[in-house]
Amino acid sequence: MDNIRVSVLGSGSKGNCTLIETSESKILIDCGFSARETVRRLEQLGISAMEINGIFLTHEHKDHTLGLENFASKFNIPIFAHALTLTEFERSGIKKYIELNDIATQDFYFRELTISPFEVSHDSKHCNGYSVYCQGQKVSLATDLGYIDDNIIDSLSGSDTIVIESNHDINMLKHNPNYPQTLKNRIAGKCGHLSNVDCACAITKLAQNGTKNFILAHLSQQNNTASLAKSTTTQALNNLGADTDKELNIVVASQDNVLTKKI
Ligand SMILES: [Zn+2]
Ligand SMILES: [Zn+2]
Repeated sequence: MDNIRVSVLGSGSKGNCTLIETSESKILIDCGFSARETVRRLEQLGISAMEINGIFLTHEHKDHTLGLENFASKFNIPIFAHALTLTEFERSGIKKYIELNDIATQDFYFRELTISPFEVSHDSKHCNGYSVYCQGQKVSLATDLGYIDDNIIDSLSGSDTIVIESNHDINMLKHNPNYPQTLKNRIAGKCGHLSNVDCACAITKLAQNGTKNFILAHLSQQNNTASLAKSTTTQALNNLGADTDKELNIVVASQDNVLTKKI
């Protein structure tokens, strides 16, 4: 059986981009670094930008789309996104010669992959996560979401690997002297970002449903640390009796360095 490799090229408020590759295909979810930086990070994995077959967007925010237009046009890569997300690009004057595809909310085929978008709650025109299926394997990504409900748990369940947001520690956010209250409310709100505790709660359910690999992503540099994000989740799992050293693999994606994971 072929393996799916997941590589988070970088994740956080300064840029998000994830590569999912099989023996036949290479796709990006989001393109939040400059085109030049995206090329540089792909090269660290030994991959040429020319090999990318498609870019799938979660939503229109800049930390997910900064390099999109330049990267897609330079390497002639089709873009896939929900119609509401595409409308935002057309309004901002994205060049017409880039191929834009409306993915709606149903499963669809792309090359040998089945792509399953699912809606999440975030303060953008529309926001979705993705599950990608290939030869009996499943990889999912859910970042930029205010909360996780049973529908999202259902969408993520059965994944071999999940990239999931663990954005902030609630206390660090609450006591951050540099953030106005309105921004704190936005981040912690139902259309904001997922806290470490909410992430840990979701992971305990998903681990019980069989997922073994978790990549914690979209960490706030102001209101979180990698060790805090990881320990919040591992403690929640340990409390339920899970052996996080032997049974599960939990890693933290970084803003600055490429993280790769073969399943
Ligand atoms: Zn966002
Ligand atoms: Zn974001």
